Amino acid sequence: MPSMERKHTNCRNCTSPRRPIKARGLCAKCYYWQRKIEKCSAKLESFRSHPEYIGRCNLVLFTFRIRVAKRVLEELRWREEGLLVDAIDSERLDSLVSTLARCCRSECAPNAHNVIEGMSPKVRRQVYEVLLPIVESRPTRLPQLHTGSWNAWASNYWLSPAFRDDVELTHALERTNIAA
Ligand SMILES: [Zn+2]
Repeated sequence: MPSMERKHTNCRNCTSPRRPIKARGLCAKCYYWQRKIEKCSAKLESFRSHPEYIGRCNLVLFTFRIRVAKRVLEELRWREEGLLVDAIDSERLDSLVSTLARCCRSECAPNAHNVIEGMSPKVRRQVYEVLLPIVESRPTRLPQLHTGSWNAWASNYWLSPAFRDDVELTHALERTNIAA
């Protein structure tokens, strides 16, 4: 008997079954950021083909935008992981509560960690499901990170070997321009 039931498909980045697939196996949120990566990568690639245009653009900015988009995709995956299980540890709920506090420009109660520790893993999972949509529905261009502010993330990036690699990449392109 032919089935009229639609095949359910999860996003291939965040694995969420909550959002419909927009394109190429990705939900709208993940597709938007994946497209950002591709557009910036295409720009960098075009500079390799046309090094004479390099002087007009800040190449480090493109590599930075790619890093930001990759971090956003990672964050969307992290958020979903807590919904895909029946029970979660206190660290995950702690992170989400701290994220929510930052969204509200507020702070957690001093005993919040102990209260979360005292919950059963299943109750933590239920609280997580209640709080996540509040964090998600905050109208911002960049999703709030569970690991801290975007400023803190950017500072870490600027001190990391990844940043040195990105700068070296752009210098290599600029050298190509001089040689051309
Ligand atoms: Zn997704």
